[in-house]
Amino acid sequence: MSPHLRPSPSSGPGRTAVVTGASSGIGAATALRLAADGWEVVAAARRQDRLEALSAQAPGVRAVVLDVTDPASVSALAAQVPTCDLLVANAGGAFDLSPLAEADAETWARTYDVNVLGIVRTLQALLPALTAARGQVVLTGSTAGRWIYEGGGGYVAAKHAVAALRETLRLELVESGIRVSEVAPGMVATEEFSLTRFAGDADRAASVYSGVEALTAEDVADAIAWVASRPAHVNIDVVQLTPQQQAGVGKVVRRT
Ligand code: NDP
Repeated sequence: MSPHLRPSPSSGPGRTAVVTGASSGIGAATALRLAADGWEVVAAARRQDRLEALSAQAPGVRAVVLDVTDPASVSALAAQVPTCDLLVANAGGAFDLSPLAEADAETWARTYDVNVLGIVRTLQALLPALTAARGQVVLTGSTAGRWIYEGGGGYVAAKHAVAALRETLRLELVESGIRVSEVAPGMVATEEFSLTRFAGDADRAASVYSGVEALTAEDVADAIAWVASRPAHVNIDVVQLTPQQQAGVGKVVRRT
């Protein structure tokens, strides 16, 4: 068999993956996909009912309540995961679309806390388990980590920080054998992302995706599963994926 077709030693049955932000959207789709690929999945987020519903769908998925902004909660997660072959650090979100001149500093702080410090806390807590397994880290970044848009302020700044964090981690962890990747999608039509951004305004949330065949959560899960299934000597640095109709931040072709 060609070495390129050989299954990766770092994926498959008996291997443990932790997925944060697994109660909805990209995280939930990733948890189900990885379980289907044979991973033992620890699905972590704040909403226990959602996680238990996910776990009921796939026996390989275990629900663990996690708040990435709470160090004690992150430590409690790590205590349940002695070895970690894959960390998908996906918990995050946007909480406004305000011009910088009017932006609320508290909202920026919350955005940074969840999207950036959440990764830092989770990574630090799981590092011994990742080291034990010579594991892999996949961060859910965004095109907002490379492109900017008006009103994107705090979210764009946070996702740029995630991209920088990925590059830093890659340099710092290379000796350990741990791989570090970023999957950076453009528009993904998940049920809650835009609802959260617009504080529950369903019409405004729906208008984001109007006339666009956006990516699905499963499309992104597919990219994450591909990154996670490369052979151990291959580090995928960044996968950026966008809907065909989204060529750039100011270039979204809407079809009616
Ligand atoms: P969702 O809103 O569906 O998912 C966000 C997830 O993060 C939820 O499971 C939520 O669960 C979890 N979460 C939020 N806060 C915390 C916290 N403090 N601790 C633990 N978990 C938390 O959106 P998506 O699936 O669309 O987004 C997932 C990731 O993808 C995010 O990082 C987002 O920035 C990124 N992304 C999304 C894009 C899009 O267009 N949708 C595009 C590019 C990137 P709970 O509330 O139960 O804690």
